[in-house]
Amino acid sequence: MSNFPNHVTLVEVGPRDGLQNEKNIIPTAIKIDLINRLSQTGLKIIEATSFVSPKWIPQLADGAAVLAGISLQTDIRYPVLIPNLNGLNRALQAGAKEIAVICATTETFSQKNTHCSIADSLKRIQETLVTAKQHQLRVRGYISCALGCPFEGTVPPKKVLELATQLITLGCHEICLGDTIGIGTPLQATQLIQTLVPEIPIQRLAIHFHDTYGQALANIYACLALGISTIDSSIAGLGGCPYAKGATGNVATEDVLYLMNGLGITTGIDLDALISVSQFVAQFTGQPPRSKVTLAKTRI
Ligand code: MG
Repeated sequence: MSNFPNHVTLVEVGPRDGLQNEKNIIPTAIKIDLINRLSQTGLKIIEATSFVSPKWIPQLADGAAVLAGISLQTDIRYPVLIPNLNGLNRALQAGAKEIAVICATTETFSQKNTHCSIADSLKRIQETLVTAKQHQLRVRGYISCALGCPFEGTVPPKKVLELATQLITLGCHEICLGDTIGIGTPLQATQLIQTLVPEIPIQRLAIHFHDTYGQALANIYACLALGISTIDSSIAGLGGCPYAKGATGNVATEDVLYLMNGLGITTGIDLDALISVSQFVAQFTGQPPRSKVTLAKTRI
């Protein structure tokens, strides 16, 4: 287990990626309460909301109010997702200190998700990052469909490398590899990381896996073995997958933490505290927590 990290940073994406894919629109006060509760669990990075047009994502139309309402902790980072320069300007007004941008590996997904070609999405990112740099914001670059596309199928790791390299050149500090439809397997995840690491330091790579096909923890384990130490997860497994019917969404934070604890990898996060937050948010989504650990612990 020589390449396994001693410490892993979990990036909580429930309030943004999770809630944007939930059917129920959660009241602003509950979102703020959720983020404040997550801030008490030991998590150090919580993706708070997005500044995407409410026309596309009505669930997160209250991004500015959410950001303004959180009891910001000085040792916790609260990045927000930005679609374009207009979104960045709104986020800056709301006090955002850290952002994430997004692109996809296939033209079809790019059109469906960001309503433009891959080349145009990179142009938008370039324009956005010029301003982000002026404000010295830390920027994460998401790559959607890094392990497969619901429309175009298999995605060659070289395509992901090409995009990752461009995002780094444009000023992204970190690249987050999203298995948006949760279709990847450990072998594919391994091949992807092995393709990227000769060009991009592993410390700058993060993984964002979905459990649609039940592979998320296996994929995470495979990446840990290669030294990946930044992992996205979502409290209660919040978030579905709009392109895979009936699919479970993001891997649950509780389940990832249980795996880390079992491996003796430190995270600084308290499992019981997470489970309480998971049960809290489940009251408002109308769905039981999609975390096997939370379900098991609460059935006892
Ligand atoms: Mg996701």
